[in-house]
Amino acid sequence: MSSKMNTDNLLFPTPEGLYCPIGDFHIDPVRPVQRALITHGHSDHARAGHGAVLASRETLEIMRIRMGEGFCRTEQVAMPGETIDIAGVRVSFHPAGHVLGSCQIRVEHAGTRIVASGDYKRSLDPTCAAFEPVACDVFITEATFGLPVFRHPDPLGEIRKLLASLAQFPDRTHFVGAYALGKAQRVIALLRQAGYDKPVYMHGALVRLCEFYQAEGIDLGELRVAVEEEKADFRGAVVVGPPSAFSGVWMRRFADPLPAFASGWMMVRQRARQRGVELPLVISDHCDWPELTATIRDIMPGEVWVTHGREEALVRWCELQGIAARPLHLVGYEDEGDA
Ligand SMILES: [Zn+2]
Repeated sequence: MSSKMNTDNLLFPTPEGLYCPIGDFHIDPVRPVQRALITHGHSDHARAGHGAVLASRETLEIMRIRMGEGFCRTEQVAMPGETIDIAGVRVSFHPAGHVLGSCQIRVEHAGTRIVASGDYKRSLDPTCAAFEPVACDVFITEATFGLPVFRHPDPLGEIRKLLASLAQFPDRTHFVGAYALGKAQRVIALLRQAGYDKPVYMHGALVRLCEFYQAEGIDLGELRVAVEEEKADFRGAVVVGPPSAFSGVWMRRFADPLPAFASGWMMVRQRARQRGVELPLVISDHCDWPELTATIRDIMPGEVWVTHGREEALVRWCELQGIAARPLHLVGYEDEGDA
């Protein structure tokens, strides 16, 4: 077990994000820095304008798709499990189960091991590698759904609700709002897993990311772009689009749209009502409370640091288990963004 002194010197919060002074790098910095290690491609973690970026191959590709060439000065691929030496700090990337290419980052120096998990989840997701528990002295976790009331149902069960609605309302266009990176592809892959084999229509904003997922060997079945001129043909079809399209006029151009929305926040009735969601689908790319606590039990780190979300409840839970814990109060990571 390492001393508190060692862990605090190895990695600590700064306004830019988590910083390792020995290796002179930041993890998921929210402002431009010289050297950034990126856990995954969501826009609150992966930003443009850094000097050097180290990330998984998939995350680098996703950053290029979303931000264009020149999103950083130099890039380096972190292969799964490969150890990379940065000024004497040993760094390795391990699957986080959050979206395609998402990784936890393990940082080791002088026998002290810290794992920064970024965003992660444990539930079924056919579109990315499953979370791997990594032994460490300090486990850094988010707590987006860090309250005991947050318990996400089986995602396939939620998809069956969508299929039941399609059977019940065969003339209505089922419009599923889903975040463009990860959630949209997961919803489509789960539909396929549940046996839905008709074409799925997608909003234009999803095309490049869906194509990338398919090029990476993730089976999304037949996808078609939802072209507005042909809107009359969408009766009984599933159209997946980003939340921005969902709240705008785009969706209302379709015949008798039935608005669905896939998010962990759909557990909260009020949020579904506010968005005018008729069919809430509780499908989250973050851990719920049982997943958070089970993960900490799996890893049994010496200490837990909680980055963002509902930090206090998880810190208290850790302390009750005899695990030292504290909130880091990192700013710049969204609650709503990709939940
Ligand atoms: Zn994320």
